[in-house]
Amino acid sequence: MAQLLVVGAGLFGSQAAALARARGIDATVFDPGLPGAASPAAAGLFQEAWAGRRWREHFVRALPVLDQLYGLRRVHLTHADGTPEELLFVPPAAILDSAPVRQSVTAVGDGWLEAGGRRHEGWVYVAAGVWSNQFVPDVNVYGKAGSAFVFAGERPGAIRPIAHGRQAIAFVRDPGTTHFSDGAAERHHTADHDRQSLERAAALGLTDPPLARLWGRRPYTPGGPVFRRIGARTWLATGGRKMGTILGASFARRLIEDELTSPST
Ligand SMILES: Cc1cc2nc3c(=O)[nH]c(=O)nc-3n(C[C@H](O)[C@H](O)[C@H](O)COP(=O)(O)OP(=O)(O)OC[C@H]3O[C@@H](n4cnc5c(N)ncnc54)[C@H](O)[C@@H]3O)c2cc1C
Repeated sequence: MAQLLVVGAGLFGSQAAALARARGIDATVFDPGLPGAASPAAAGLFQEAWAGRRWREHFVRALPVLDQLYGLRRVHLTHADGTPEELLFVPPAAILDSAPVRQSVTAVGDGWLEAGGRRHEGWVYVAAGVWSNQFVPDVNVYGKAGSAFVFAGERPGAIRPIAHGRQAIAFVRDPGTTHFSDGAAERHHTADHDRQSLERAAALGLTDPPLARLWGRRPYTPGGPVFRRIGARTWLATGGRKMGTILGASFARRLIEDELTSPST
């Protein structure tokens, strides 16, 4: 049976593995669970306007994949003046691979990788977020960090604009809790940024101490998201920035439908 080997169990790697399995391709995902991974912190929200004209094609390609694999959901939020706003949503908990091999990939070549002292052969998809440079240095990926906070109880969804393209949002990402995220994305993230985020949360009524702080580094790449064939049987994708849900889905489709199941592969 055809075999896909995935480096990284974030939104990029997990969606590629899930789509591969849905198309009858066996997929193994490797991930040691490094601190600072972006995907566990992600709210999982998206809308066409966030993709803009530049990345609209990714949005359009992503929707059917997200819907078929996980089911698209809608989140109802309210602005300060009572105006409603609806966003699309897939919880990261539904996407992230439930049973990755907890090993670090130590080397990648054309059609093989090494992990746990063993060599594995198959199609290779490097989806290692901000760690992608270790395999392909010229991808020049860098991180912009931010924290989300989890509060006890399910509060009504709320949204407040902060700046162009940036909002503070509180909503129920996972049952029994309220997830707060304000789009903070800093090359040098400090305690002061967390303090500002918590002040914005408090302005939405989230004043009790958070149950958890989810800190992650969003992968950015110069010139925009990257999907690259780096060998006859090896690919890399990263640069999910604030849109890892749709970019991960769009690139999963590109890998599985356009590359792996195309006649030339
Ligand atoms: C606070 C916050 C809120 C966000 N909200 C949203 C949102 O609402 N909607 C949205 O679309 N996006 C959101 N994002 C952005 C989104 O999280 C990222 O774009 C996305 O998670 C990137 O996914 P990834 O798989 O490329 O990287 P990651 O999630 O970082 O995954 C990379 C994985 O590779 C693994 N890895 C690294 N090196 C190796 C190795 N050698 N061997 C094996 N595994 C390795 C790491 O352990 C890691 O798990 C948010 C991000 C943050 C931080």
